[in-house]
Amino acid sequence: MASQRPVSPKGRPKVKRLPPVGNAAGVAGSVGAALLRYTLDLFEPFEAQAPVDTAQAAPKNIANLTPDQPFVAGQPLQQAISPAHYAHPKATREVRLDGAVVAYAFARGKRRTIGFAVGPDGLSVRAPRWTPLAEVDAALQEKASWILRKLAETRERQARQQQTQVVWQDGAEFPYLGQTVRMVLDAGHGFAAKGAQLAAEPNAQGVLPLHVALPHTATPEQIRDAVQAWLMRQAKANFVQRLDHFAPQLQVQWKKLSLSNAGTRWGSAKSDGSIRLNWRLIHFRQAVIDYVVAHELSHLRVMDHSPRFWDTVRSVVPDYAELRGSLKDPTLPQW
Ligand SMILES: [Zn+2]
Repeated sequence: MASQRPVSPKGRPKVKRLPPVGNAAGVAGSVGAALLRYTLDLFEPFEAQAPVDTAQAAPKNIANLTPDQPFVAGQPLQQAISPAHYAHPKATREVRLDGAVVAYAFARGKRRTIGFAVGPDGLSVRAPRWTPLAEVDAALQEKASWILRKLAETRERQARQQQTQVVWQDGAEFPYLGQTVRMVLDAGHGFAAKGAQLAAEPNAQGVLPLHVALPHTATPEQIRDAVQAWLMRQAKANFVQRLDHFAPQLQVQWKKLSLSNAGTRWGSAKSDGSIRLNWRLIHFRQAVIDYVVAHELSHLRVMDHSPRFWDTVRSVVPDYAELRGSLKDPTLPQW
């Protein structure tokens, strides 16, 4: 999540909350037959961005603000060796904060406070039209430790995301049912399966080769599409099997499965028995998939997230709490 904090009289961070992911929309009909839709409210959007902050009650004197972050004496070794440098692509001003050079986007507008926001691009600062630059600089120094911490966190997160960016070429690896799969481009390979075929046994490195029926001249897009299509087929078969496994245990009937690709939710269920599951769940180990399947089927019994609902989930997936946490895995491939 992009971080932001306007300067407020108490110097407290103002956290912009995104609208809740889960929503229950009532549609015409009796209460029992009401078409209710529930979504898993398990995790935050992959790349949520808070907008640059909106104005708040203005402090008359910024210099009187007390920082709520303790001053951090000393800097990380890395920073001491080569000073950190951050540059917003639309930077127009630059400031030195605890030895780090921070180039930031600066804008003035109809607002009453100085606001800071750290997003994927870096630091942006907004100030009222007539605030002297010296006051802006003072406010920046005041919040230096917060700004540097957020910039470092953002940089770290981006590095992590880059690591999970699959380069679609021969030898690329990605998680599949909790194991590591390595693609092998293999146009000449004669196999019965459509598009691709997974080896039954892992190789010496513990990796499962996936033979993809494409020549070495295939473009990254062709490879990606072929692998995605294969993964979606596996996902559908897997989910149907698990729905059929859990439905009788929960004494519910599911009617229809559709695969979704929404970035922000893993699944949803409607009281008419239709289930939506995110095909990317197939990256997780089976136990995690089973939890999501059981969660959605449990909604066919209990249409909310009440204690009775969680009791229902627990009856078929006793360790659901731990599995639920696994869904936040930051190492999932980016598609
Ligand atoms: Zn739910």
